[in-house]
Amino acid sequence: MATASDIEKAAEVLRTGGLVALPTETVYGLGANAEDPAAVARIFQVKGRPPSHPLIVHIGGAEHLDEWVEEVPATARLLAGHFWPGPLTLVLRRGRRVPLEATGGLETVAVRVPDHPVALALLSAFGGGVTAPSANRFGSVSPTTADHVRAELGDAVDFVLDGGSCGVGVESTIVDVTGETPSILRPGGVTREDLEAVLGCPIEVPSTSHVRVPGQHPSHYAPRARVVLVEPEEVVAEAGRAQEEGHQVGVFLPAASADAPVKAHAVVTLPESLDAYARGLYGFLRELDQQGCDLIVASLPAEQGLGLAIANRLRRAAGPRSSQ
Ligand code: AMP
Ligand code: MG
Repeated sequence: MATASDIEKAAEVLRTGGLVALPTETVYGLGANAEDPAAVARIFQVKGRPPSHPLIVHIGGAEHLDEWVEEVPATARLLAGHFWPGPLTLVLRRGRRVPLEATGGLETVAVRVPDHPVALALLSAFGGGVTAPSANRFGSVSPTTADHVRAELGDAVDFVLDGGSCGVGVESTIVDVTGETPSILRPGGVTREDLEAVLGCPIEVPSTSHVRVPGQHPSHYAPRARVVLVEPEEVVAEAGRAQEEGHQVGVFLPAASADAPVKAHAVVTLPESLDAYARGLYGFLRELDQQGCDLIVASLPAEQGLGLAIANRLRRAAGPRSSQ
């Protein structure tokens, strides 16, 4: 676990243009000084991420929001007041302090206050904004432990802050508050239902967005193994069929089928609670990869509460791959 002196070292790495992997409550981020275009450029290089894909600027508290954006509409203030620190990212008009390198050339900027003591301590010691996407190679599974980061990025990161396992486990919910009505660009750790309760009205979840949202790339959050999605009651039969065909099958076994006999190479029995499922999701995908599975059979949870974000990530994990 990161110590006070680790936090100081990490802040110094950021001040001198380096990259720091930091824990947040969602996933681990690959952070740079948001105001240093060269450092921001290194994030894209290390991740292999196209430079047109915007990053999230992490700040230490809602009271700093005005320093990073041009204008804060009442809805943004309301949502920030309710959900920060927390897994909610607000897209607002870009303030002059934010270089275009961090926004992929967009005139909007995504901002959030992470709810993790190590991330908040780093932001406080550093004093500025930290721009950070997830600390993984572009398109692959997001890291939820410091070991995942070390295994995937190794020496490409100047410093890794260890903050244990991420408590939420899926990325933040991104809400665009630049238009007349707010809309969800990416479902995540704050549920649609919670947003609607605070806003007092339904919130849109457009299926395709005209804004460039990298998490919306067809194949994203993907393990090495191919992911196949079937109906929950077909998971066991599909796994058996694929295993017989010679695949090394990994199974996401729904809690309701926990007692069913499964013919497969490796089985993850899913937790009943969506909180636990979200927290474990990326770790489960990594685990099945590590066990040598070439095919993962899974089904989608009901798209309510955190189920919306989990289903979104599973669909992306199963999405078409350009490299295959
Ligand atoms: P990640 O995808 O985990 O690397 O984290 C960055 C996320 O922030 C991506 O999903 C981006 O789409 C999102 N994001 C950052 N800036 C913007 C923006 N200006 N408009 C829409 N989404 C944004
Ligand atoms: Mg990512």
